[in-house]
Amino acid sequence: MTEPASVFPPCAVGILEDGRLSDQEDIPKRFVIYRGTRMTEGWPGQMIEAQTFTHYNIGGKDFERVSYGSESDDWGANERPCHDCRVIKGEYHVVGCDVERCPKCDGQAISCDCLDEEDDGSTTYVEG
Ligand SMILES: [Zn+2]
Ligand SMILES: [Zn+2]
Repeated sequence: MTEPASVFPPCAVGILEDGRLSDQEDIPKRFVIYRGTRMTEGWPGQMIEAQTFTHYNIGGKDFERVSYGSESDDWGANERPCHDCRVIKGEYHVVGCDVERCPKCDGQAISCDCLDEEDDGSTTYVEG
């Protein structure tokens, strides 16, 4: 809990001016502690925002999103936050999380076909 979150590592400036921006490994990440879990700065905001998306509209029908702990597989929601997006049991995953299930077919939300139809507008996020 004593990490100086506001201090940017001095070397970061050199890296950025060095033009090695394209090398992802060299970009120092800033971390924050949120609910006792270490995560990338800005991520807590994504988690909070994810809770405002309660349904997916798939083919004109609303499907409530599958919250963490409601999956048909046991991802350990009783013991720990989601390993991918860090939400806790009962919360909706951050969109794009690889644990989130599709509410329609129970497949992986990021890879199933139902939620793949955003391009033609048939799948949208519904704020609730
Ligand atoms: Zn997740
Ligand atoms: Zn699906």
